[in-house]
Amino acid sequence: MKLLITGGAGFIGSAVVRQAIARGHAVVNLDALTYAACLDNVASVADHSAYAFEEADIRDRAALDRIFAAHAPDAVMHLAAESHVDRSIDGPGDFIETNITGTFNMLEAARAYWMRAGKPAGFRFHHISTDEVFGSLPADPAVQFTETTPYDPRSPYSASKAASDHLVRAWAETYGLPVVLTNCSNNYGPFHFPEKLIPVVILNALAGKPLPIYGDGSNIRDWLYVEDHADALLTVIEKGELGRSYNIGGENERTNLELVKTLCAILDEKRPKDSGSYADQITFVTDRPGHDARYAIDPSRIREELGWRPSVTVEEGLALTVQWYLDNEAWWRPLQARAGVGQRLGTKA
Ligand code: NAD
Repeated sequence: MKLLITGGAGFIGSAVVRQAIARGHAVVNLDALTYAACLDNVASVADHSAYAFEEADIRDRAALDRIFAAHAPDAVMHLAAESHVDRSIDGPGDFIETNITGTFNMLEAARAYWMRAGKPAGFRFHHISTDEVFGSLPADPAVQFTETTPYDPRSPYSASKAASDHLVRAWAETYGLPVVLTNCSNNYGPFHFPEKLIPVVILNALAGKPLPIYGDGSNIRDWLYVEDHADALLTVIEKGELGRSYNIGGENERTNLELVKTLCAILDEKRPKDSGSYADQITFVTDRPGHDARYAIDPSRIREELGWRPSVTVEEGLALTVQWYLDNEAWWRPLQARAGVGQRLGTKA
């Protein structure tokens, strides 16, 4: 398939681009190269004959029409978004414009292209979304988000993603556009921008800085290794049922405090025995406004219908991630210098 992938210079998008090329697909990577982007993330495939890059903003409808016409994709994987909850609280405007208006533009450009092409049977528009659209769960482990959980977004970020999910479903119902949707839990892994929870913890620990945790650290998140998410997304674009949505999760619920302590323990093993624990650097800070207590995904549908499974446990994935940051200072050091990075400890990956 020729895949038009938006946001392919970001954290998850770049993992999808790398894996798509490895699976034999052709890729057109459409990205505006915002502060969160890094073309080094796709350097390993940049010279591949099946890879093309288009610098474009999804708020620019004319640019989208040009790219659809120039590349004639078989399918769209739409990941481009403003993605950081803390930034959405400080300045929600960009989240409304990119996540809602940008998705509207993508749907309209895709629809116009699909109709001009005579509604080809194989075409599909895959919208990549988050479990945060479902709101906050009680502590009871028996209660998880399913594909039919009502939406209850509570931050500007999750509200903007919920709005974009609704637009995608409306375009399927109203115009017959062939769509699939996925809602995933927190991702972590290589190439994670250093403003997000796990890189902040690793890099602050190594720098001898405080590891600030919101509130008492009891907020619970489900964690999924980014390469496993990319595998799930490609499984859905390759064989997901049209009109269906799939929840993707790692079944790895951890409190933020547990997660940070696990990271500290992995890092401690790499330092001399008598030099103490990085956990001594943990500092509790005033909670984020509207901080959701718990997210937990029931991934039964994608497991049972499409046979997808995560390839690593969270402990294995975190160990791989720590080692990747230790080995790739040349990647993260320049990004850390971008405004505001590493100052706060977000609880969305
Ligand atoms: P990211 O911030 O790392 O990357 C986003 C990418 O989108 C960047 O390369 C950026 O340049 C690009 N972009 C932003 N605005 C754009 C615009 N107006 N036009 C074109 N490109 C633009 O984000 P991520 O963590 O990789 O998340 C990717 C997608 O997955 C998002 O839609 C997000 O909501 C969703 N998601 C993320 C997580 C997570 O844990 N990170 C979990 C579930 C779902």
